[in-house]
Amino acid sequence: MRQSQLFTKTRKEVPSDETSKNAQLLIRAGFIHKEMAGVYDYLPLGLRVINKIKKIVNDEMINLGSQEMLMSSLQSKELWEKTDRWDDKNVDVWFKSQLKSGGEIGFGWSHEEPITSMLASHISSYTDLPKFVHQFQNKFRNEVRAKAGIMRCREFIMKDMYSYSIDEKNHIDFYDKATEAYLNVFKKVGLSDLTYVTSASGGVFTDKFSHEFQTLCEAGEDNIYVHKKEKLALNEEIFNEETLGKLNVKKEDFELKKAAEVGNIFTFGTEKCEQLGLYYKDENGNKKGVYLGSYGIGITRLMGVLAEVFGDDKGLVWPKEVAPFEVHLVRLGVNEETISHADKLYEKLNGEGIEVLYDDRNLRPGEKFADSDLIGIPVRFVVSDKTVSENKIEVKMRTESESKLLSETEALNIIK
Ligand code: ATP
Ligand code: MG
Repeated sequence: MRQSQLFTKTRKEVPSDETSKNAQLLIRAGFIHKEMAGVYDYLPLGLRVINKIKKIVNDEMINLGSQEMLMSSLQSKELWEKTDRWDDKNVDVWFKSQLKSGGEIGFGWSHEEPITSMLASHISSYTDLPKFVHQFQNKFRNEVRAKAGIMRCREFIMKDMYSYSIDEKNHIDFYDKATEAYLNVFKKVGLSDLTYVTSASGGVFTDKFSHEFQTLCEAGEDNIYVHKKEKLALNEEIFNEETLGKLNVKKEDFELKKAAEVGNIFTFGTEKCEQLGLYYKDENGNKKGVYLGSYGIGITRLMGVLAEVFGDDKGLVWPKEVAPFEVHLVRLGVNEETISHADKLYEKLNGEGIEVLYDDRNLRPGEKFADSDLIGIPVRFVVSDKTVSENKIEVKMRTESESKLLSETEALNIIK
């Protein structure tokens, strides 16, 4: 893509009410636009990042045997009443609206109820199980506080997966595999070292257990106790004598740290399926309840965490797996030969299937470098009068301060 064609512009100022680092950087670099508190638009550069994250997540879900689909955002009150989750007293994030023809509807904040009810038309026998389904969907939540940029929104993209298993053992087997798949996702986006699996029950499997995936991040809204030497972290609410004793660890070995919940997985047992009329018949024709698991990843929150964790004083710093482009080709100088060299390199990179953002604008070098740092593409190629005369390309990694003069072949090898 030619940067001269990109409709978004970088900017120095951000909305005065925008206090979070992630949104400040993402707005300045033109990745997102703020509609209002907790509501953002994803512009071309931002959407490319989202799509990369989705692809990583989707591949892992497909690998688990899940099938992608897309449920509606508008939801039926009657369905949520069956499980007693319609009342604002039980779920405090509902957005609801009135139908002109009478009656109320909800805007989906989660999808266990509609998906379970939908699957009741498709699952009836033990031979139909297990089934795993997932979607990428805009969720709506009436959050009281929305000051963390794209990390806490009133409308945000979630990947939600649901598992329907025949019994508890099969459910737990899948739940464990899903946990591994989640860890793969966080590894692929470069957050492996910073991400911990925590549990609300201290590792004890109760009927309804859950685990959180917490990434250490100053802007996170959760506090977790992190073991100083081992890869172990505990939620605040279970950091007590009993849990420490069970795990045979000492209080002094932990420190309290800020973290952002990037994923959350739950077991619902068979109760929800029973409430919504999803049963199966076993080999002997007996009616049985289905075990439900629910697995969420905050796609846009994850993008915000990446901006927070890796961003520096110059701008965004994307890990290559999720960067909007692989290379930022920056052309300096306006003489014919330099332009033609840069154009040719751009065509060549495109031809090799390398994703490149080509800064073909006639701006001062200082401005172009500042924009390039702000946008945060991992590798920068500079083509200038000087590099052309030496038949080299100046190559700089976003995470390093020094650049190198390389031949075209050497430069291409860096990307491959
Ligand atoms: P939190 O405690 O942060 O409100 P939650 O427990 O309500 O999260 P879930 O209902 O489990 O979250 O949703 C699954 C995932 O969706 C979360 O792990 C998080 O990554 C993401 N998420 C939840 N609420 C928001 C939000 N308001 N904005 C952006 N992402 C969110
Ligand atoms: Mg919440």
